Amino acid sequence: MNQVWHRVSKKRPCEGCKKPDWCTYTDDGKYCCMRLTSDRPLKNGGWLHTAANPVAGIPVTRKPKKPVTIDAGALWRGWKDKTTPKRVNELGDALGVEGGALWMIGACWIPERQAWGFPMYDAKGKIVGIRIRTLEGDKYAWTGSRNALFRSTMPVDNKQPLWLVEGPTSLSAALTLGLGAIGRPNCSACDEMAVEYVRLNRIRRVVICADVDENEAGLRGAEKLQKVLTVPSVIVFPPVGKDLRDFLKAGGTRDELESMLRNFIWSVPGKVKRKAHHV
Ligand SMILES: [Zn+2]
Repeated sequence: MNQVWHRVSKKRPCEGCKKPDWCTYTDDGKYCCMRLTSDRPLKNGGWLHTAANPVAGIPVTRKPKKPVTIDAGALWRGWKDKTTPKRVNELGDALGVEGGALWMIGACWIPERQAWGFPMYDAKGKIVGIRIRTLEGDKYAWTGSRNALFRSTMPVDNKQPLWLVEGPTSLSAALTLGLGAIGRPNCSACDEMAVEYVRLNRIRRVVICADVDENEAGLRGAEKLQKVLTVPSVIVFPPVGKDLRDFLKAGGTRDELESMLRNFIWSVPGKVKRKAHHV
């Protein structure tokens, strides 16, 4: 029989520890206390209590693991205020992109990690997470971050196609090339948020620019997004290199990318069949 376990609440606190959180109970009088033991330990780390298994009365000193919540915007502003344009320009030189592009996407130096941080925004433009990039190029998110979009503080021009790229450094390359662009954390994240961003900013066309990778994860992620986009889109790969930063470093230009787009058939939303081709 499938037992339905309800979470305890202020109104209906746990019968064992009398606390309003963490523990659970069933309609037929069993409960699982996470703080008081019985002789029936359960898989979730708590103990079963019934008439036959009364509370053993040994309180366990442990606290529920609360999910970490952060004010990502405040964290970012603290670091950004102490980050000089000179330092951001140096990062630009190291990455082969314009320092101004990194500045616009909010690159900040995080002294306690000795790493760079990039703010991630939800579709409405609120900072909800921080991506960390170490000096060695390793990437991870600040604990408590939500995965979200990288974007520029410059307003987007919705008469131009929006380029959707992978990660903050590819985004800085796209902006250096003069494209209107946003980034997502990886090749398959934040589909819904991107769709929402497109809707809110009245974007008319989207260029999904996938990184070149061996297992074609980039292409699969791009196709997954294309299926849910509500405006015409194309899937492209950088003509040179594995991402737009490689393309930029190899001397690539916006004109080159735009003439490449002329060779593509734009998808019609809801009718995606065509496979993207590597140029
Ligand atoms: Zn309890």
